This record gives sequence, structure tokens and C-alpha cells, in this order.
Amino acid sequence: MEINLKKYIREIPDWPKPGVNFKDITTLLENKEVFKFVIDELCLPYQNEKIDKVVGIDARGFLLASTMAYKLGAGLSIVRKKGKLPYKTKSADYDLEYGSNTIEMHEDTIKPGERVVVVDDLVATGGTLLATCKLVEEMGGKIVGVSYVVDLPFLGGINKLKEKYQTNYLVKYDAEWAEKKEEKENINSEIPVAEIGVFGGSGFYDLMGEKIEIDLPTPYGVTSDKISIGRIGGKNVAFIARHGQGHKLPPHQIPYKANLWAMKKLGVKKIISPAAVGSLQAHIKPGEFVICDQFINWTRTRGADLRDDTFFHGVNSKNGDLEKVAHISLADPYCPELRKFSLEACQKLNIPFHPHGAVVVIEGPRFSTRAESEFFGAQGWDIINMTAYPEVALARELGMCYLSIGLVTDYDAGLEGHPEVPIVNAQDVIKVFNENNQKVKELIFELIKNLPAERNCRCAKFVEEAVV
Ligand SMILES: [Zn+2]
Repeated sequence: MEINLKKYIREIPDWPKPGVNFKDITTLLENKEVFKFVIDELCLPYQNEKIDKVVGIDARGFLLASTMAYKLGAGLSIVRKKGKLPYKTKSADYDLEYGSNTIEMHEDTIKPGERVVVVDDLVATGGTLLATCKLVEEMGGKIVGVSYVVDLPFLGGINKLKEKYQTNYLVKYDAEWAEKKEEKENINSEIPVAEIGVFGGSGFYDLMGEKIEIDLPTPYGVTSDKISIGRIGGKNVAFIARHGQGHKLPPHQIPYKANLWAMKKLGVKKIISPAAVGSLQAHIKPGEFVICDQFINWTRTRGADLRDDTFFHGVNSKNGDLEKVAHISLADPYCPELRKFSLEACQKLNIPFHPHGAVVVIEGPRFSTRAESEFFGAQGWDIINMTAYPEVALARELGMCYLSIGLVTDYDAGLEGHPEVPIVNAQDVIKVFNENNQKVKELIFELIKNLPAERNCRCAKFVEEAVV
């Protein structure tokens, strides 16, 4: 996840005095997405640290510290300039370039043994933060870490802090920053909002508790549903319910191109795509997951707008398409890296899974005849579904990694009466279906948590090689 915070911090030259390039963080707090990002990032190192108190420093530190305290389930203590606190105080002096300053805390605001995070907006010489830490320690508190948004390393504060404390900040400016015009222009260009995309299949309409929801118009119309953006394991994740809330879109009415285009626009590089499937082989049982490595496209409305499976229509390209001809390689359609991490996550969570499998994708909305289903099974194909195509092909054309997880709900028609296949009723199927959706959410959280930031695969390269 990258939000370039410099884009959101307003710089005010020669304020409050000549020669100082003031960093105004109020503009960063005004933006709801960026404010949330800042608080989440500041809290990240302390999520499992059982923090008792967050200490905010007068005055902008209060804005961050109170929200952090709320998120971390901790109390809030405040540090003020001399003479502002009503009750008995403890004070500490610290040196400024000329003269000195004094800060105060209520003498009982930190209890002995409490685990404390100290927060401010910016560190220059580090004097205020160090004096605060000293006060906290005098009261018996233990400093777990100091956190702030902006670091000015050329003024030396960071070095003094790092000697004694775990120090975390989000953005730094070097001494020559004010002169770097080109870099300043670059940060104002479009920024990615999410790095990982998830499509929820049938019965899977929600992924993250805390999220924002956006509408993103595309050249291909509206996406299946609003796009939710939230955080998982320190990464920004975009989620779209493929069928829309409450399953309003059947497989042949899903706006696949709009969905993929929107993911790309948000900056998504990796797509995780679970879907309910039927089994074509007796040994692949309901409740098991298949980490697909091949697909067979049996959909038939290719070229119609909705199932349109390419962004490259050459000279006939419409708005949003790429006016080129490209023959993309799909010999191995799924990202090897996403597959590897998903297998590991299945193992860790004790989810029964098949590390390989071919999914045949039918047009729907009707199910297969017994003869069709027997035919698919006889080819050695493993599972069957109505949505696993064309998402995968469109993702590759846009240079995104793609993972398809088949959640086996039941046996397909061709296996009815097979000696190894038990007779099931509708209630069993619904139970498996609901359990699968619960398990796959756990799998997705575990997978995203472990995914490396960089991509060690060729998924982004295929499209470069495909253009004629
Ligand atoms: Zn990849």
C-alpha cells in the first residue's frame, strides 16, 4: 500500500518565521481516506502490544493520539505547554535553539507499569518528544514506541529518539526538499488506492469490517456493486461482490470488463477470485477447495458486451479499449506466486484442498445436462462453474496477477449414482456452501497477510509481449 502523503501535506513557506517551510497536516486530516490510512499506519506496530495509554503532544499530536487510543483500545493522556493543565502537574524542560521550553503532564495520568505510545505530528530536533518520554518514565510508564507523521531527519531528532525508543514515522523530507520541483510535481499524479482486489462469489457479499465504499464509473458501465476498500494485514484491499448484494446479477449478466477495469484503475496488482463450483470427479469432495491451474472456456456468447473477453479490439476498439491487436499467452493462466501462497495458507488453516485442478466454465444460467456433465468429467476436468471466465483473461490483459479458488459445493449431475458419491439433500448443500464462504474468508485474510509487497512472477509482462 502506498499513499504518497506528501501530496496531502500542505507546505507553507516562511511560516511561522522566515526560512521555515511549515508542514501543515490539517489538509491530510481533511481527506477521510487519507486520515484513516494515517491512523491505521500509525497503529500498525502496536496492534498486538496491549497498549494502556497513548500520549498526545500539544496540539496537533492530540488529533492523532485520541483516534489512535480509540483504535488501540487504550486511554489517552495529554502533554501541554506550561500553565495549561488544571490539576497537579509534573514538568520537564527541554532546550530550543535559543532558550528553553517547558511541558507538563498531570502527575497521575500515567500509572506505574503502563505500556505507553507517545504521538506527535512532526519531529524536528526531537526535544518535545524526548522530554515527554522522560516524564512518562518518571511516572513509571514503559515506552513501547514513539510515533509521528513527518520526520525532518536533517534536524537530528530521529537519531536521538532511535537511540532509546522504537521510533515509527510515515514520511520524511530531506533538507533540499523545497528545491525539488520535479519530485513535487510527480507526487501530484494519480495514486493507487488498493494493491489487492478480491471478487466475492455467490453468498460472499462482504469481506472487511471497516471499509469505505465507492462508485467508480468505467467506460464499460457500472461495476457489479459498490467497491469496498479496507485494510487487511497492512495492505489496502478492494472488494467487489461479483453478483452484487443479494445476488442480483446472474453469471451471464455480470459486467466483467467494468469490474476488471475498475480494479486496474484503483491500482490493484493482484486479484483473488473465489467461486462456488461443482465437482466433476468423485475424489473432489464438497467442502474442499481447488486451487485452479487451468480453465476450459465453455461459455458461448464471446463477443457480446458482457462476456467480451478482451480489451484489445484493434481498429474496432470502442471507448476504453486499447486500439491494438494482442494475442495474450494464457498457457498457464493463474499466477504461480498467488497459487503458492494460497496453498500454504490452506495448509496452515487445515482446509482440505487440491493443489491442481481444471475448471470448465459454462455459459449458464442453466446447469449441465447429465450427458454434458459426464462429457466434462470424462475429459479429466475437475470442477465446473459459470463465472471463472472471462475474469482471468481480462486480468492478464491488464497486467494483473489472478488466482482462482474453486469452493466445491456439490457433485455435478454426471456423478449422480456414482458408487463413491453419497446421496445428498438440499440442506447439506446449503450447509457446505455457507461453510465454504466462511473458510474462504479466513483463507483470504491469511493469504493477503503473507503476500510479499513485490511481485516475483511474470504476470505483468505477458501483455507487453502480446501486442502485435
Ligand atoms: Zn503474478
